[in-house]
Amino acid sequence: MMQTPQLNKARRIVVKIGSALLVDGQNACIRQSWLKSVVQDITNLHQQNCDVLVVSSGAIALARYTFNLNRHKLRLAEKQAAAAIGQIKLAQAWSENFLEHNITTAQILLTLEDTETRLHYLNARSALETLLKLKCIPIINENDTVATSEIRFGDNDRLAARVAEMVGADQLILLSDIDGLYTADPKSDPNAKHIPVIQEITPEIMTMGGKAPTGYSSGGMATKLAAGTIANTAGCAMAIAFGKLQHPLKALQEGARCSWFLPNSSTYTARKRWIAGGMTTKGVIYIDHGAEKALYSGKSLLPVGITKVDGYFQRGDLIKIGNKEGNIIGSGVTAYDSSEINQIIGLQTEDINTSLGWEGPDEVIHHDDMVLPPLLSISEANAK
Ligand code: GLU
Repeated sequence: MMQTPQLNKARRIVVKIGSALLVDGQNACIRQSWLKSVVQDITNLHQQNCDVLVVSSGAIALARYTFNLNRHKLRLAEKQAAAAIGQIKLAQAWSENFLEHNITTAQILLTLEDTETRLHYLNARSALETLLKLKCIPIINENDTVATSEIRFGDNDRLAARVAEMVGADQLILLSDIDGLYTADPKSDPNAKHIPVIQEITPEIMTMGGKAPTGYSSGGMATKLAAGTIANTAGCAMAIAFGKLQHPLKALQEGARCSWFLPNSSTYTARKRWIAGGMTTKGVIYIDHGAEKALYSGKSLLPVGITKVDGYFQRGDLIKIGNKEGNIIGSGVTAYDSSEINQIIGLQTEDINTSLGWEGPDEVIHHDDMVLPPLLSISEANAK
């Protein structure tokens, strides 16, 4: 059995900090003494040669009172405006506090599209690598000002997992208002048991996410588990730890209770890890039983096995693969547009070119561009 990971031994970590920890909700201001304590913890890790990346929420929470934006639910444009106002304050708070330790911070704002489009993803990855080489601490948030509701992470749990996968972090620490995963909601069920180690995020574990308290975070437990799936598939361990106390990372180093989600021992290439972490669903290609069997035996997806195409997508987009029963079984990068697939659906390989009128590839999704099994899509996680 794999040993429980230890923060002291981490080489590169992503720490996700939620709004409820960082922002005093009553006064919409930074909880300065808490921030100082976490900055001290991160500085200690940094001095022990651990690369640290921070995914920080709080932009919208910091701007809530500006222009009377203090309603429970903001409209998209108001959220975007609030994020623009709050983000500058948020970045300033991190920057000033780290400067006291002579550490330079760097602000990175990412959208879901940036992480799903391979070229943007690679650019973000090299910028992050360069910053880490320069010993900077990247402070990352979703670019809420340009993200629209359909194509946004919406919660920083999954954004943090995607970042962890992007930089090959060995640990992702989600600082939360709860010290881990419980078998049931501990606030309403006295028999709820804390789970210290999760070997694998099974469907049964996923159900526990649905029942757990959502607290203040926009994601709640369901998105934390979705984040765990992304991180673990990428070979990164994830911890859900209580963050509300001062020096939360030091507490974790000293053995504070948390839940560890152990990484899969997958041998995915970097490209496959990127595919596996994909969350948008531009479309689904449904296949028959024969094709499903072929994919599991390591073959590529050919037009002959396709039964239906859902959605509109372009060549190079990340899409999902559905089986005959309608279950999503994987994801991959398509070599054809959705309209082209509709032209060649069910055809034998030798008939593809005649139908298209040009010479296309034999495979709709090449084996190297495909990952089985799949991860939770945004809509599935949000539906929890
Ligand atoms: N990106 C949002 C913000 O900074 C927060 C998202 C979340 O709560 O996870 O305000």
